[in-house]
Amino acid sequence: MKPAPFAYHAPTGVGEAVSLLADLGEDAKAIAGGQSLVPMLALRLAAFEHLVDLGRVAGLRGIERRGDDLWVGAGTTQAAVERSADVARDVPLLARATPLIGHFQIRNRGTVGGSMAHADAAAEYPAVALALGARFEARSPRGTRTVPADRFFTDLWSTDLAPDELLTGISFPVWRGRCGFAIEEFARRAGDFALAGAAVAVELGDDARIARCGIGLFGLGPTALRAAAAEAALTGTAAHDATGDEVGRTVLAALESVPADLHASAEHRRRIGAVVVARAWRRALQEAGDA
Ligand SMILES: Cc1cc2nc3c(=O)[nH]c(=O)nc-3n(C[C@H](O)[C@H](O)[C@H](O)COP(=O)(O)OP(=O)(O)OC[C@H]3O[C@@H](n4cnc5c(N)ncnc54)[C@H](O)[C@@H]3O)c2cc1C
Repeated sequence: MKPAPFAYHAPTGVGEAVSLLADLGEDAKAIAGGQSLVPMLALRLAAFEHLVDLGRVAGLRGIERRGDDLWVGAGTTQAAVERSADVARDVPLLARATPLIGHFQIRNRGTVGGSMAHADAAAEYPAVALALGARFEARSPRGTRTVPADRFFTDLWSTDLAPDELLTGISFPVWRGRCGFAIEEFARRAGDFALAGAAVAVELGDDARIARCGIGLFGLGPTALRAAAAEAALTGTAAHDATGDEVGRTVLAALESVPADLHASAEHRRRIGAVVVARAWRRALQEAGDA
């Protein structure tokens, strides 16, 4: 099937893109890599009178060190993140998550901002943003505001972005010290969306206690989730007080419900969810211990 007809707009500046989205209102949609939006348009699950293509907006692309953060422009492709030495050094969790996204053809066009704004519950990047405590920069005619990751993902395919707000960039804090990072997922085939996954960041103090940790979950709720209660319970404990299996069980026990679909019952998802959390926790902790 072909998409319903639309008018095509190709702004070259961030300000121009923001004005277009505001002026065209509810009948307009931003399109970045098109890897999620185009299938929805082609299947006629969505239709818009205007598409505002972000592909020529240079101000949305780039990877820059900004103080204690690594800023990634929303329009930066997932392939550029995968190739970036800065991402590999400063935000290893983001680097390790990227090859798990679809296939390289998808990552060549798909953008970091598109994945975050689309907010698929099974996507890797939102969970990485939650685990690391990233901040989202949104711009509209009313100005620019910053939204912390744990307020950005609100529900099924929903974010805190207003319809006329453009996501311009994401600031990932650079975790320093004795840190370890791991992402684990279970997918039926390589390149498929995960049935369940976990992204973990851990920092150890000099006393080998957990100084801080972040646990982001995907495929286990209506949107990416942060295991905030488990993070709080683990912080300050001796690193090996809780085994990976215990952490996995605790994190999953705190989820009131997990999704069920054709591919996995809720019970099965709970089981594999606990396993991926346990594996990611163990690997992150081991890396932090070796640092
Ligand atoms: C076969 C296949 C397999 C895939 N597998 C995975 C996977 O395993 N894991 C995974 O995470 N993803 C997967 N994806 C999705 C892929 O990562 C997409 O690239 C991503 O979800 C959307 O990014 P995009 O740049 O293509 O956005 P688009 O499809 O262009 O847009 C998606 C949505 O985001 C909005 N948007 C885009 N940019 C902005 C912005 N700057 N500000 C505000 N709104 C914006 C659009 O309006 C739209 O609503 C897969 C896709 C395909 C086709």
